[in-house]
Amino acid sequence: MTASPDRAQPFGERLRRAGEIAAEHGVDLLAITPGTDLRYLVGATGETHERLTCLLVPAAGHRAPPAIVVPKLEAPGLVGLGLADLGVETVTWNDGEDPYLLVSDLAGGPRRIAVADSMPAVHVFGLRDAFPDVAQVLAGPVLRELRMRKDPAEIDELRAAAAAIDRVHARMGEFLRVGRTEAAAGADIALALVEEGHTGAAFVIVASGPNGASPHHDVSDRVMQHGDMVVVDIGGPLPSGYYSDCTRTYVLGAEPDPEVRKAYEALQDAQEQAVRAVGPGVPAEQVDAAARTVLTEAGLGEHFIHRTGHGIGLDVHEQPYIVGGNDLALRPGMAFSVEPGVYLEGEWGARIEDIVVVTADGCERLNRQPRDLQVL
Ligand code: ZN
Ligand code: ZN
Ligand code: ZN
Repeated sequence: MTASPDRAQPFGERLRRAGEIAAEHGVDLLAITPGTDLRYLVGATGETHERLTCLLVPAAGHRAPPAIVVPKLEAPGLVGLGLADLGVETVTWNDGEDPYLLVSDLAGGPRRIAVADSMPAVHVFGLRDAFPDVAQVLAGPVLRELRMRKDPAEIDELRAAAAAIDRVHARMGEFLRVGRTEAAAGADIALALVEEGHTGAAFVIVASGPNGASPHHDVSDRVMQHGDMVVVDIGGPLPSGYYSDCTRTYVLGAEPDPEVRKAYEALQDAQEQAVRAVGPGVPAEQVDAAARTVLTEAGLGEHFIHRTGHGIGLDVHEQPYIVGGNDLALRPGMAFSVEPGVYLEGEWGARIEDIVVVTADGCERLNRQPRDLQVL
């Protein structure tokens, strides 16, 4: 007989490590409302709202056991998470009771509480009133130490997400056509994300012609024209909650002008050099600098107007950020985007984005679709 590992690992280990890291940060208690931190720690999905649901994780060495405070009417939703097996006590409250006082009864006299970064202000203030003399800090610095470094099962999920979005990009010829609007193409692309295994499309950017110069353009009623450059940046979660995020740039119907092609080639080189810069021990900002140097030397530095990348996992944007000034040393298991772009106001734009995972000696690039400028 083998022990059933699925519940106890990874969540038991994650809870234990969260308590240890909290202690290292001088935090006595983590207070985690529904969101990706809660999903990471105990597997609970669902959203936060006005009724308080809150996981309490005491720092290592504190006497209070982990507990989850939950409205009685929602407690059935936690059945199946195996919380009792994880040593997490479920404590329910009824409408009319003060759940924040319940938290203070369970908390064991903390001096410093770290609240989930995404906790709604209504709950932050509720806790402040229940713990008037207790310092509140953000839990992000504690949890990111865990969440930044993906375990092998998480990396498998990110691989699956990347493969799913690659399949959507491989079908782009079905969607992008001269005479269609960005919005029409975007609607089809959103369906394709689901067909290829996502639970939904979290974002679909179809930025044609001059719209490509706006990095976070959405879709519009602009009709795509012959010769347009089209930036397509798409992603969404798999059923596991892990995200895809991949950008390719296409050109419709014709080869672009020589200077556009030249700029695109510099962009492709910048993306390649940034990916090659990734490895354990490398400061995050060095990856950003690798991309920026290539574009600056090509005379395009001022047209690369955002950071090079962001971490990805249960959130589509999370730590680590690949940005100038971030001297965080990359570690194996860290997963993030490498997505330089060039944006020429009023004319066109281009971006190339892959998700990479840091390995023992470099990185694994999860997205595999061709990065050359593809003529559709
Ligand atoms: Zn973005
Ligand atoms: Zn991205
Ligand atoms: Zn993206």
